[in-house]
Amino acid sequence: MADSEASFSTIAQAMERLGLSRAELYRRVKDKALKADKTDRRLRFAEDELQRYSQVLAAEHETVQEALSRWLTFFAERLVQSGREEPPSVAEKTTAEQVAELGRRILLSALAGEVNNLYLDPLHQGDRLLVGIDGHRTELARFPAPLAAPLKSWFKALAPLTQLADSGVFEGLGKYQDEGAARQFRLAVVPTLLGEHLHLHIYLDRQQKTLEELGYTPAQSTALSGLLVGRPGLLLVVGPAEAAAERHRLALARQLSAAGRLVVSLEHRIQYRAEELIQLDLPTGQPFEPLWRAALGMGPDVLLFDQVDSAAEARSLLEGVGSGAVVVAQLLAPTALDGLGQLLRFEMDRQALSRALLGVVERAVMRRLCPACRTSRPPTPEEAALLDVAPEAEIGVAQRCDHCGDGFSGRRYLCGLWPADDGLAPWIRSAAPDSPLPAPPPELSLAAAARQAVLEKDALLEEALPFLRG
Ligand SMILES: [Zn+2]
Repeated sequence: MADSEASFSTIAQAMERLGLSRAELYRRVKDKALKADKTDRRLRFAEDELQRYSQVLAAEHETVQEALSRWLTFFAERLVQSGREEPPSVAEKTTAEQVAELGRRILLSALAGEVNNLYLDPLHQGDRLLVGIDGHRTELARFPAPLAAPLKSWFKALAPLTQLADSGVFEGLGKYQDEGAARQFRLAVVPTLLGEHLHLHIYLDRQQKTLEELGYTPAQSTALSGLLVGRPGLLLVVGPAEAAAERHRLALARQLSAAGRLVVSLEHRIQYRAEELIQLDLPTGQPFEPLWRAALGMGPDVLLFDQVDSAAEARSLLEGVGSGAVVVAQLLAPTALDGLGQLLRFEMDRQALSRALLGVVERAVMRRLCPACRTSRPPTPEEAALLDVAPEAEIGVAQRCDHCGDGFSGRRYLCGLWPADDGLAPWIRSAAPDSPLPAPPPELSLAAAARQAVLEKDALLEEALPFLRG
């Protein structure tokens, strides 16, 4: 009698037969890729299904091996091009070890190329790898689904991930150490309709970040340094919420901590662990007061706020100044006056604010014209008048090339500086709705920085117009 039991396999037998781990086997059953029967609440597998599926796996294995050898070679070549030694061959290693080596080569070539963003982005079939330097992204590779899945698992294991409150998004901070160089990164895993999207943001630790590298003109940099070494007071940094805002604040903090000063940073969302700062985590919805007392108790020389979103926080800015500290607060708003308006809506005392304020930094971001393909043209008479240049000057025009795709490559950061004494403090004090809006000193203004970007052919005049007209 042909016992029907004999033509079925148990889970253990199926794992052995197909060479899959228990988790992998369950995942494939759950995805309905591999069919299983359930008897007595146990999975069992029919013989003809196992036969069919071992062929599926063989084809899949071949796809993975082909893709692995192609992309391992591709990234080895990139490493050699960037001046690193050729990595040893891993052709004899297991598939899992080869996947890990591919992940390592992707990361190393990103670090060698000073890339600060890596994305594994799901498509209908497999995933594409995008790399970005500031705002400029390019597609480097496409991985078939059976390779993309374990590769994404390798990346996800680089950092302990926690779920962001009430969202499907997971985030974690990690550090990647290789051949003496350690880089911090933030990993985000975001669910999309096509699958998991991974974003690895690498913090490139260029130690001596000067104010000029942050987008300040030499005149602004001198004026800002002057403000920060004077009396204790409040510096507001106002600008759009974008990735560079974080870098800007940390680089300012580095400058301020350079002279051995104690810098305490209050952060609603810690994105980077900086050794030279004392960082205090301010989770949303938790009382601010105890943490603020702790921060003041440290007797800081400098206090940093990554955002100000309550009346208690707004009051603490002035309290920090009163304690003798320089307070640097970041506000997410389009202009300096909008930022000040945010603070005043928290019913900050106008007199006290105008006394404490050292100045306001306005930040803006523009697309940078691709230096490989941009061309130039003379300005029209109106444009020449607006820029205050002779008509024979030249300004940039966007073209397009293989390197950029759309004429732009990366970002140009602009800053404007309003020292409080120049009209701003009296305006804050007056509170009269009809008092004329103050203007920053022309040579320190955002308009001056935008003009410089246009004349350096780094930015399009059309995009700079809102700043030029102030
Ligand atoms: Zn180009």
